[in-house]
Amino acid sequence: MRKKLVIGNWKMHGSRAVNAELLSGILAAGPLPCDAAVCVPFVYVADTAVSLAASALRWGAQDVSAHAQGAYTGEVSAAMLRELGCRYAIVGHSERRAGHAETDAQVADKAKAALAHGLTPVVCVGETLEQREAGQTEAVVKRQLSAVIHALGHCAGEMVVAYEPVWAIGTGRTATPEQAQSVHAVLRAQLRAATAHADTMKILYGGSVKPDNAATLFAQPDIDGGLIGGASLKAADFVAICRAAR
Ligand code: PEP
Repeated sequence: MRKKLVIGNWKMHGSRAVNAELLSGILAAGPLPCDAAVCVPFVYVADTAVSLAASALRWGAQDVSAHAQGAYTGEVSAAMLRELGCRYAIVGHSERRAGHAETDAQVADKAKAALAHGLTPVVCVGETLEQREAGQTEAVVKRQLSAVIHALGHCAGEMVVAYEPVWAIGTGRTATPEQAQSVHAVLRAQLRAATAHADTMKILYGGSVKPDNAATLFAQPDIDGGLIGGASLKAADFVAICRAAR
């Protein structure tokens, strides 16, 4: 049985005061039944490392450079993040694929850089509404995941995959548990063909997960937890979602 994992993606929200209150609210809830982490804006990485140093709550970044070092103004390397104790790096979030024109190849390079420096890449894949309606969901997510599988080679089993249908992110429109499970099963099968570790790998669902829909999503056989945006900004909601992940 795979232990569930719930990761909060704070996106570009927060302030030092707001983050401190949010983290202390989560920590005050005590032990959680799942593995849990928060992915914070780069500027709050150092604060978060200190705040969570003695806790089981892990933390990560929302992006990472594909490059090890050099003249890449504005970028943050995996080694820099690792030095501060970072555990996860989200790569290929749809907001970066769409808003920053990130390609499958760039996402794969970022995942590779993360892994090379001891970070677990959380690789986001997902179709737009237009692609879903055109019957392209499976082809799109397989293409996105395939690029990363090939870049990681024998280390592919070390990534976390997050299926995030673009039409469900921040919209309040969640994939039904059956819709999500059917895509997760496709991704699991793709991973099985690529690595012997597919059955222990975590495939998270993301897209308007809330306390009231988390349990039914997480009850699906191939859904191993969630990547949570909006609901990760409220301690009570994030904790409730974590408690649904058992
Ligand atoms: C996300 O940003 O990864 C996400 C899933 O957002 P939300 O939960 O707000 O839909």
